[in-house]
Amino acid sequence: MTTEQVAPAINPWHVAQRQFDLAADRLDLDPGLRQVLREPRRELTVHFPVKMDDGSVQVFSGYRVQHNLGRGPAKGGIRYHQDVTLDEVKALAMWMTWKCAVVGIPYGGGKGGVVVDPKKLSRREVEGLTRRFATEIEVLIGPERDIPAPDVNTNAQTMAWIMDTYSMHVGYTVPGVVTGKPISLGGSEGRNEATARGTVFCVEEAAAHLGMDLAASTVAIQGFGNAGSIAATLISQHGVRVVAVSDSSAAIHDTNGLDIARVIAWKAEHGTVGGFPGSRDISNAQLLEVDCDILIPAALENQITARNAGSIRARVVAEAANGPTTPDADEILHDRGVFIIPDILCNAGGVTVSYFEWVQDLNRDHWSEEVVNSKLREIMGRAFGETLTLAEAQSVNMRTGAYLLAVDRVASATALRGLYP
Ligand code: NAD
Repeated sequence: MTTEQVAPAINPWHVAQRQFDLAADRLDLDPGLRQVLREPRRELTVHFPVKMDDGSVQVFSGYRVQHNLGRGPAKGGIRYHQDVTLDEVKALAMWMTWKCAVVGIPYGGGKGGVVVDPKKLSRREVEGLTRRFATEIEVLIGPERDIPAPDVNTNAQTMAWIMDTYSMHVGYTVPGVVTGKPISLGGSEGRNEATARGTVFCVEEAAAHLGMDLAASTVAIQGFGNAGSIAATLISQHGVRVVAVSDSSAAIHDTNGLDIARVIAWKAEHGTVGGFPGSRDISNAQLLEVDCDILIPAALENQITARNAGSIRARVVAEAANGPTTPDADEILHDRGVFIIPDILCNAGGVTVSYFEWVQDLNRDHWSEEVVNSKLREIMGRAFGETLTLAEAQSVNMRTGAYLLAVDRVASATALRGLYP
């Protein structure tokens, strides 16, 4: 490809459907079931006004998609990003269905998103946008129906506003309508760290399987938000040297290892990891290709593609992000012997502790962080083991193994329920 030619944008929904097709083929899925699981059950598009600080009105677009409700209520985060599309949200909702099935928690898959760069809005404007979006998607959400959580550019405060908005409308407090809330509002201990903790549990399992010495290993992490920065902290506690990290505006490299607590403080002060003293600035593309044992993509989709998969030097790719690797890149990495821990397994710690939070909310209970973390370890360890066993038995990579496990579970539940009416 010449430099004048621009690579076509990769549509995450096409990626998700292709991944599903691979599993459906191998499972020889019933054609009717295949059609059902290949499409989302519900897609809601909303356009809604928000009063801006200068008195003007701006109209935003947002989505809530429920992919499958066969195993329980829809579950999935809400993303605020300027590049959100309906197809992206559909893909993320489908991935949630498989993720909940891989770890065996009783949810279907959902996802939401608003097309907005929240960094350009004031806090009051983000609150107004959140409350109005929550109101618009209220036809779908509820503690027994569809339970949102944080994702890119949303956090515990966003969830508190959604919980309050929903509660105001029904007239009483409903903590179970969202997860990832502040602890004081029914949030769970360990939820903030859960996605990263689950990823690090998976990396430990992979290292044991591959005979890697974690304490002598290095890691590069793309994305330095909830998943990425906490993964950096937790993995460095295992003695792993974090040699490179990045955010949306910069990437930094230090072969001696970055002091993660100081990088977090630097980002809090300067708004980016860029310019961190003692480190070398590199590009985000270079970050993926640095010399390291473990690569953790923890930002957005389609980062590892056919164009750069041949240059990835890591032995393990642990997908904290959703959809970071395209199917073509998957094949290249697999052929090169790279061990991929697929997103639907690797970042399932987040939804697992969200499930714990929901159970605590419904029971008006509160568990200690030790209880949460040990239950999380048990679930992640079991899911990793089941995926690995299946992948080895069928001579497929870990992603296909996880899909076979998940699609079979969802298909069995759907078949058992039968076709209504
Ligand atoms: P976040 O908003 O907290 O952080 C996202 C980070 O990615 C930020 O540091 C941002 O600067 C960076 N980023 C954005 N574009 C980038 C780019 N092109 N290159 C490098 N960095 C870039 O979001 P998060 O919650 O940490 O989510 C990150 C990924 O993890 C997403 O794919 C999300 O779907 C997935 N995930 C999150 C959770 C969760 O509980 N938060 C659970 C499962 C999966």
